[in-house]
Amino acid sequence: MPKKISKKEAEALGKKLAYKTRLVWDVLKPREEKKLWDLAEDYKAFLNAAKTERESVTEIARRLEQAGFKTTASPRPGNRVYQVFRDKVLALAVLGKEPLSAGLRLIASHIDAPRLDLKQNPLYEEVELAMMKTHYYGGIKKYQWLARPLALHGTIFKRDGEKIELAIGERPEDPVFTVADLLPHLARKVQMEKKLSEAVEGEKLNILMGSLPLGPREVKDRFKLAILKTLYDRYQLVEEDLVSAELEVVPADAARDVGLDRSLVGAYGHDDRASAFSSLAAVLDLPTPQKNLVLLFFDKEEIGSEGNTSARAQILETFLQSLFRLKGESFSSEGLVRTLEKTRAISADVAGALDPDYQEVHEKRNAPRLGYGLALTKFTGSGGKYGSSDAHAEYLFWIRQVFNQQDVVWQTGELGKVDEGGGGTIAKFLAALGLEIVDCGTPVLSMHSPFELLSKADLFMTYKGFKAFLAAP
Ligand code: MN
Ligand code: MN
Repeated sequence: MPKKISKKEAEALGKKLAYKTRLVWDVLKPREEKKLWDLAEDYKAFLNAAKTERESVTEIARRLEQAGFKTTASPRPGNRVYQVFRDKVLALAVLGKEPLSAGLRLIASHIDAPRLDLKQNPLYEEVELAMMKTHYYGGIKKYQWLARPLALHGTIFKRDGEKIELAIGERPEDPVFTVADLLPHLARKVQMEKKLSEAVEGEKLNILMGSLPLGPREVKDRFKLAILKTLYDRYQLVEEDLVSAELEVVPADAARDVGLDRSLVGAYGHDDRASAFSSLAAVLDLPTPQKNLVLLFFDKEEIGSEGNTSARAQILETFLQSLFRLKGESFSSEGLVRTLEKTRAISADVAGALDPDYQEVHEKRNAPRLGYGLALTKFTGSGGKYGSSDAHAEYLFWIRQVFNQQDVVWQTGELGKVDEGGGGTIAKFLAALGLEIVDCGTPVLSMHSPFELLSKADLFMTYKGFKAFLAAP
């Protein structure tokens, strides 16, 4: 029999021994409140300027230049440099007082998001309507992309080699595009009685481009021709230019406050621009650090980190090589290995928040909740932790202390029940280089949808947590 104790004693003991998460709104310091709301305003502006990976690189570089970052610099501590890789990846560094061989503080996020890409031969006409074919990118629920305003962003090379950057559908005076959906009256057999995963076919995600003919009735494909003529008149494009273009169809809406209390932000691409933005804001607010700080913004996470702009490419190694040169430290493959071994990193990525309507797919003791701060995810993957990078106890202990010392409100965040599903991040590719890394990010509702949701309180704690991590001794 355990010793009998009073209710008061039991409560005191519970307070001393039990682990409790905290709601940010309950514990927020009055002096932090303004920063929390201001940060969300700046975040919405960032989201609106950065809807694609290329636009994210441009917007991050713009903010960096404004803050005194240069593409070349002297080795003085406090100096700030950045490098752009193929217009889709950005790496930045703030030189610290210590040598690189003492190890880095690194945060890596991704700036690509699920979307519809145009096919190489996109333009055609069907029943006297001009259309464009798409191929979806990343994990989407296809039905979410129907019957909503869409914008067209991307990069086109003209025959003469001139590069055009397009963004149509973002300004109020712009036209938008859309994938038409079938009326419910006729949808019974082809959609409603099917499994949700099969109800909308990928080949039916076609964008409506126009309905005006060009020339008399006898002209073949005159609706398609009308679109080609518009593209030529406006941009001097011919159809073959579309073959080499990268055109991305994204939701046309701007980021908005959600809720009567305006406590949430709804937008396309919180995954993973919430992390890109928070890590950037953190680094810009720090004085000259002890450690050398590196931030990486990767492309192609949503398709498994494939290709030379992904976390699997040798971007960190290449960037580090130039940092060694910059700091006047001798570079060797052994030195690089040593530096990476002493490096502490965060794989900054959003977490799937507990959904009020689908609580059954989560395991509530371990699911991240909106408003409970930055989510620390020891491992990702699926099944028996397949495909995951599982952070070590030593490292989790260190990072937990860093957060606690700086009063960061944080929680743990496992993605769903065991065997319910799963997901990956870039952590495992960086872990393979030998550094310590853990997944960490803002909880998000409606993840991978055209209108994702996050709490402003969690965004603020992500920023605060990243700042504490970068500044930690
Ligand atoms: Mn992500
Ligand atoms: Mn994702």
